[in-house]
Amino acid sequence: MEHYDIVIIGGGCAGLTAAVYARRAQKSVLLLENNAFGGQITASAAVENFPGFQNIKGTELADRLFAQAAALGTETRFETALSIEESENEKIVVTDGDRYSCGALIIAVGLRHRMTGLSGENRLIGRGVSTCAVCDGALFRGKDTAVLGGGNTAVHDALYLADLCKSVTVIHRRDTFRADAAAVEALSQKPNVRFLFHTVLKEIHGDERLSSLTVTDTETGEDSSLPVAGLFLAIGLLPQNEPFQGVVELDESGYIKAGEDCRTSCRGIFAAGDCRTKPLRQLATAAADGAVAATGACRFLS
Ligand code: NAP
Repeated sequence: MEHYDIVIIGGGCAGLTAAVYARRAQKSVLLLENNAFGGQITASAAVENFPGFQNIKGTELADRLFAQAAALGTETRFETALSIEESENEKIVVTDGDRYSCGALIIAVGLRHRMTGLSGENRLIGRGVSTCAVCDGALFRGKDTAVLGGGNTAVHDALYLADLCKSVTVIHRRDTFRADAAAVEALSQKPNVRFLFHTVLKEIHGDERLSSLTVTDTETGEDSSLPVAGLFLAIGLLPQNEPFQGVVELDESGYIKAGEDCRTSCRGIFAAGDCRTKPLRQLATAAADGAVAATGACRFLS
């Protein structure tokens, strides 16, 4: 079994920043990622609130973060961590491909997309239903689309789609957005965007591909049909900390309990970024966590 000073699970902004700090402290580092390096930002058309970058494509920022960690000698593997085992002086990370031992572990697995749970959703994902406008938006060029949600993701997705698609209908269960006021204002200027407020998604229809939605106005109780080729789900994110349950303490919502020092209930295991309990989940705070967790892990090893 290969041994590393530090194993980092998750290659988003928190995990990549942790790798930079740990490598600069001359620790051997393995970074495990099961999807794409960069994490959530790979789905952002534009990032406008990361210090030093007035406006940068999410994929470009992801590439830069990865390049920096790789140039410092971070080892990487595309594997999914399934469980953690503890022995006296080391942790063992069991993945879908191998087992790795380490002196300290940093969990930086981020969040996963909340889904609607409606029938048809699973069958039509990738066939009209998507959780990533930046990844899939171009497939709907010139077509009618809808975005479900009222947060920053929904508004930014709708802004991105408005420039590609024939129309974008934003379906939101309330009549005020959670998203930043500037983004909402920009969206309201788009002539091909319309808003369905106090409206919930009731049904998703389509055989081979998505064909239409049934939505319900919660004020009148009336159902209506919305023919669309694309539906972008932007209804928030949920923790994915199941593999770590029983090893580190989770809160009632499933986030890893850790304070600003990123220490978990288990000595030598740190949690960084969106997967831990914290008041603000943003790129800047993920980067900060990566630095704090790696520094804590290095101190733990010394
Ligand atoms: P979010 O802020 O949690 O918003 C989720 C939205 O979906 C809310 O409007 C919520 O409605 C709605 N919703 C939740 N469950 C629903 C359901 N079952 N059915 C219908 N609607 C439902 O999630 P997010 O927009 O993905 O953002 C996540 C975090 O990333 C936030 O901190 C956000 O600021 C950040 N982010 C930032 C940027 C940026 O700054 N460029 C871009 C994207 C995301 P209610 O409002 O009624 O609760």
